[in-house]
Amino acid sequence: MNHSSDLSARAAPGAGAAGGETVLGNRGLQLEEGLIFEQNSDGATGVDLPAAPAAADRLGSHRRQGRIGLPGLSEPEVVRHYTRLSQKNYAIDMGLYPLGSCTMKHNPRLNEAMVRLPGLAGAHPLQPVETVQGALALIDELAHWLKELTGMPAVAMSPAAGAHGELCGMMCIRAALDARGETGRRRVLVPESAHGTNPATAAQCGFTVDTIPANAQGRVDLAAFRAKLGDDVAALMLTNPNTCGLFEPDIIAIAEDLHKAGGYFYCDGANFNALMGRVRPGDLGIDCMHINLHKTFSTPHGGGGPGAGPVVLSQALAAYAPRPWVVQGGDGYDLVEHEGGVGEAKPFGRLKGFHGQMGMFVRALAYMLSHGKDGLRQVAEDAVLNANYVLASLEDVMTVSFDGPCMHEVLFDDRFLNGSGVTTLDFAKAMIDEGYHPMTMYFPLVVHGAMLVEPTETESKRGLDEFISVMRHLAARAKAGEADFFAAAPRLTPRRRLDETAAARKPVLRWREGVGD
Ligand SMILES: *Cc1c(COP(=O)(O)O)cnc(C)c1O
Repeated sequence: MNHSSDLSARAAPGAGAAGGETVLGNRGLQLEEGLIFEQNSDGATGVDLPAAPAAADRLGSHRRQGRIGLPGLSEPEVVRHYTRLSQKNYAIDMGLYPLGSCTMKHNPRLNEAMVRLPGLAGAHPLQPVETVQGALALIDELAHWLKELTGMPAVAMSPAAGAHGELCGMMCIRAALDARGETGRRRVLVPESAHGTNPATAAQCGFTVDTIPANAQGRVDLAAFRAKLGDDVAALMLTNPNTCGLFEPDIIAIAEDLHKAGGYFYCDGANFNALMGRVRPGDLGIDCMHINLHKTFSTPHGGGGPGAGPVVLSQALAAYAPRPWVVQGGDGYDLVEHEGGVGEAKPFGRLKGFHGQMGMFVRALAYMLSHGKDGLRQVAEDAVLNANYVLASLEDVMTVSFDGPCMHEVLFDDRFLNGSGVTTLDFAKAMIDEGYHPMTMYFPLVVHGAMLVEPTETESKRGLDEFISVMRHLAARAKAGEADFFAAAPRLTPRRRLDETAAARKPVLRWREGVGD
């Protein structure tokens, strides 16, 4: 393929590139980078293998007829390709990542040092248990602290993400209902501010979703909630603090009424960062809650690593937790992996190969132990303080959606842009030119043009002040009527404004030779 003609096609106006200012499309030392397939030189390779010895053909009609289609590149070409791509990626190690609800906090390097200890890094999940006693002890200790922090008697460690944890929790609820013989309880109440994974999980588990409206304060409308209770209600799925960044003050009354009506209380614990060390969900009447180790407990995510979503369970649901789990007996630790578990256990099945995300368990435990009880409590306090600092510093130029202080994230809506011709999306694109990953946009759905900012506790005051100054500057430009400036953003990125509708509706997911330039 002719590399330069490919680049000029990209640099054409509207194609999104910088606009042909340089010969190869490079911008300073930010190098333009095509697909690896476009860099193919047939036959090029990074290794030099001897010819395979002749062998009888055992594949017969299964033998591949065409070319496999993998690109041929030398080792330095491959290294440069991925290094250039990596430099186009924004990361928490580069700057503030204020995605509300995602808790993009610093990943401490101490965690990384621990997980690379040879005994842990080299462990294999199929090793005999007597050779991995330390790893099992580590899972057991992490489980202990998760139960301690949440005030819950049991935890399922294996779910691999928040949404996977939701699946685990809702399957426990379904198993518990089936055990009660209540197969008619199939309605799940979900507040309208809920994360999309909540209704999706409920539907996936065969429940119908019934939405509860928010009140004018952005909280669950208690009267509407009570009106929806009935003997077909299986569960409520509530986030606290909710996705408007607000604490649900009626949570204890909600739990009591729900339990009286025979339903279970699922709490989406993705926002546990705001409560840790201060409130125990078990004391609020919650029956199950997933905890995103990759949010609250600082394990890398957002492209940085796999998630991990252990689920804490109340006494009412503990028996249904999926296999496997760690037990401690006279001979040390063991994993319960097979039918005929232990005691009262009635596991609904198994969710994942092996025992969960071991590398994330190590990091999360390192984070807990290095912070200690007082440190974890301070994490929650500083996260809330930082969000309120952003709120107080911007409320005169942007519109805060709900009155009063927030928890760990602050919700703005687009009323401050009214009449300016600038949308939430335009505003976010202009932030990119200023070197900021945008905040969460258009979520939650309870306000118009939402902008949800979660600074987390790991940002310094200086970093927050810089962010605030940029937001104030952009708000002033929007109000000054500079709609064209915003419509043209981002101007400084490797690609300009993309046609996002076309990208969503007609995605090109596969490269084919000679197509798509
Ligand atoms: C992040 C998040 C989830 C989903 O967690 P994943 O690990 O991304 O699956 C669910 N609910 C809320 C409120 C979240 O913020």
